Order: sequence, then C-alpha cells, then structure tokens
Amino acid sequence: MTLDNTSHSGRPGSDELVPSRYALKVGEIDVTVISDGVMPIPTPILATNAEPAVREAYLDDKFLPTDVLDWPLNVVVVRSGGRIILVDAGLGVEFPDFPRAGRTVQRLEAAGIDLSSVTDVVLTHMHMDHVGGLLVDGVRDRLRPDLRVHLAAAEAEFWESPDFSHTAMPPSVPDVLRRSATRFLNEYHSQLQPFDKEYEVAPGVVVSLTGGHTPGHSVVRLASGGERLMFAGDAVFQIGFDQPDWHNGFEHDPEEAARVRVGLLRELAATRAPLVASHLPFPCVCHVAAAGDVFRWVPIVWDY
Ligand SMILES: [Zn+2]
Repeated sequence: MTLDNTSHSGRPGSDELVPSRYALKVGEIDVTVISDGVMPIPTPILATNAEPAVREAYLDDKFLPTDVLDWPLNVVVVRSGGRIILVDAGLGVEFPDFPRAGRTVQRLEAAGIDLSSVTDVVLTHMHMDHVGGLLVDGVRDRLRPDLRVHLAAAEAEFWESPDFSHTAMPPSVPDVLRRSATRFLNEYHSQLQPFDKEYEVAPGVVVSLTGGHTPGHSVVRLASGGERLMFAGDAVFQIGFDQPDWHNGFEHDPEEAARVRVGLLRELAATRAPLVASHLPFPCVCHVAAAGDVFRWVPIVWDY
C-alpha cells in the first residue's frame, strides 16, 4: 500500500488514524460503511420550519452545537453474488468550502477496495455530496468500462431542469448542485441504467424509488438469510428520529420528504431491520424504535 495519494488536494491518504470503515454481514451479503468525512452545515438548514429557539434548545439538549454542525457523510460498499456495489460516492472536490469531506476514494483504497473492482454504482440521488466522488479527476478512467450506474429515471429527468423553489440552501449551493449534476449526467451518460420504481442490482440488493428529498430519491434494501438492512440515503437525518416533521433545507419537496421519512422509520421499527444513512454519525448502523408519534435512534454496539 503506497501513501502517495496524500498529494491529491492535500487530503490524507491511507495512513490516517481516523476510523473510516465499518464492516458487517447481512446474511450472505457483505457491507462496508465508509465515511466520506464531515461537512460543516449551519444548523438552521437542518430544521427550516422550527422556531429558532426551539431548534437551539433541541440541539443543546443533544449536546450538539447550535450554530454550525459537522454533518457526517457516509457511503456503503455492498458485495453480493459476485458484484461489488458502491452506494453513493461522497462529495469529491465539488465544494471547496467542505475540505473535511470528499475522502471516499482514498478510504476505499485504504480498505483494499480498488475502483476497478466496482461493478455497479447505485445513486440514492444526484446531490453533489452523493455523486461528487465520481467526478474527481481520473476516477472515471479507473472505473471499469462496463460499470453500471443505477439511479431512478425520475432523478436523471429532474436534473435536466431542477426546481429549487421549496429548498432553503446556502445561496452558493444550488449552482454547484446544478453544475455537478449536469457534469455527472454528461460524463456517465453511457453507463446509466435508469429504473422506474425498483431494481434488483444483485441477489438481495434492491434499490427503490421513494421521492421526497429529490423526486428520484431512492433507498437500498438488503435481505439475505433472514437478515435485512436499509441504506436510506437522505431520507433520514440524525434530527429526524424525534423530530421527523422538521424540514431540511436541502429537500426539494419538504412535505413529501417528511412523509417518506415517517414511512421508512415506521417500516424499520416494524421490521427491526438495521438502518444506515448518508448523514448519520459514522459508523451509523442503528435500529429504529417507535416512541408514540416519533422514533428512537438506537445505535448498535460496535462489533470488534
Ligand atoms: Zn446528502
């Protein structure tokens, strides 16, 4: 293992000491959660429809900062039936204001996962923090020419003329999102495998359209040998367990996003399947319990 990837954009290589991968099994399916890093997010964006005082009291109660929060960013690698599937790709270098994210490629390498071994990419949606890793210089050339990139047809369609009218993002963000989505659609055009509602990428690995966060937002459900796991993308945030109705400023349809969130959390509480999501604190494997109209987030015990 060489350490020469330290030179890229000054980002750390495989010798970094931060824990950035967590492996588990779901029946016959291997899952590795990889941390892309963290992104500083002004907290009002996490709860655009909450009173500032209520939001601040909530965050304080959770021992979280009330001004700017380090928002975690995770991707997963799933191995099933001989296929190696990367679910989302991290931020890449799309947003220079977030220098502590964008580490997916280096951390895949550090975990011994070569880009050329990836057979499939599944995208929960096309925001820059989910496709950016695929846009880093040289990455596409290192991926296989027969790579399949799965995303909802509705998502590809949406980004041809995206609507930001219901979002509440920092002002500089929509342009970057538009630009990175357009670049992604151009660069990966020939490898896209759009699905309508649902697609089984590999045995027991099913990606399903939910909409809400973006019109083509999707989640990945794993099932094997009586075990399950859901990767919920941006449908569920840390704040969303006990405040599922709080709107996130990155949601293109916040009302629908809240409905999707509650539906998925109810499903997880009923099935008792573990949850992994893009912006939950690493390694973020957890269970969901119903608590009246809201939910409890129950982290799993780290399995050494
Ligand atoms: Zn995201």
